[in-house]
Amino acid sequence: MLLKGSCQCEKVKYEVETNFYYPYMICYCSICRKTNGAPFGVNIKGKLCDLKITKGDSYIKTFNANGSERCFCMTCGSPLYITNNKWPEDVWPNAASIDTPLPEPPEYQQIFIDDQIKWYQPDLPGKKFNTYPDWSIDEFHQHWDLLP
Ligand SMILES: [Zn+2]
Ligand SMILES: [Zn+2]
Repeated sequence: MLLKGSCQCEKVKYEVETNFYYPYMICYCSICRKTNGAPFGVNIKGKLCDLKITKGDSYIKTFNANGSERCFCMTCGSPLYITNNKWPEDVWPNAASIDTPLPEPPEYQQIFIDDQIKWYQPDLPGKKFNTYPDWSIDEFHQHWDLLP
């Protein structure tokens, strides 16, 4: 599916063609919370070669947190996507920056649950982990037969 994303001020627009777009992984780690300014972050996955910045390339700034380059709009601060030197072929778009409607996942996986804030603890079906989950994003999509 071709996903279209943008920042809040719309200086930056991007597209990514990917089959790994179910927004099931709810991350409560402090980096996701702080860089999203939200109780959690949700990233999906694509290939870096399938990412196209369609507008405002020069407005994108990156912040390295724990080995990941977190890319955001320098004007409005919206988080856009993440890259990582350890997996140089991949990109993790921030699901909340995607304007294309994303499907509801069959279950959620809540990760870094120990870092969850007390004032927002949603009741979601699915597994909880204190660290990264057992499955990769690819394996989750394969397990639930979500690939075309
Ligand atoms: Zn912006
Ligand atoms: Zn996180």
